[in-house]
Amino acid sequence: MKKILVGTHNNGKFKEIAYLLPKKYKKISPLKLKIKSPKETGKSFKSNARLKAKFFSKFVDYGVISDDSGLCIKSLNNLPGIFSARLAKKHGNFFKAMKFILKKLKNKKNRNANFVCSLSYKDEKGKITTVQGNLKGTISEKIIGKRGFGYDPIFIPKGQKITFGQMSKKKKINMDHRFLAFKELVKKTKI
Ligand code: IMP
Repeated sequence: MKKILVGTHNNGKFKEIAYLLPKKYKKISPLKLKIKSPKETGKSFKSNARLKAKFFSKFVDYGVISDDSGLCIKSLNNLPGIFSARLAKKHGNFFKAMKFILKKLKNKKNRNANFVCSLSYKDEKGKITTVQGNLKGTISEKIIGKRGFGYDPIFIPKGQKITFGQMSKKKKINMDHRFLAFKELVKKTKI
């Protein structure tokens, strides 16, 4: 069976990417190979996704797919953006980071946000393809829902009335920013 390294230590992301990938692949986690994550020194989602794919590919002789993603909130100058994971670390956990965001948005009229995902695929021949998916939505008034991961309980995708945290796993995976990025990747590569 063909192998592919899914370059993330985030269990929520791993499950979503593994679900999107074709069945022909055995999906390998860096945790299983005891590989740590590289420092995210890039200034954009794309550059961070690319540096992760390059880094993880040093350890295997098969394909690698990596993700860099985050929540961009319009009235907060598109933050936390590439710092989404770091914001949660700074506050201790995602619940506290979400509370911090809701407080910041308390008197703001504009609650528009984007979930952004860059996926970078390095094939076994070494060719790297990087794509991006953007999903529009708004930030809810409260933290709602126990499903998903990360910032899911405060993000309401455009056209929906519930947060990702309330949505079934299947529905979220088939519409989110990772799904949109993966669609682009399928168009551009033979993954
Ligand atoms: P990084 O790509 O490792 O820098 O982490 C991005 C962070 O953005 C994750 O730790 C999550 O907190 C957040 N994030 C990315 N995608 C999602 C999602 O689909 N749902 C909720 N949070 C997400």
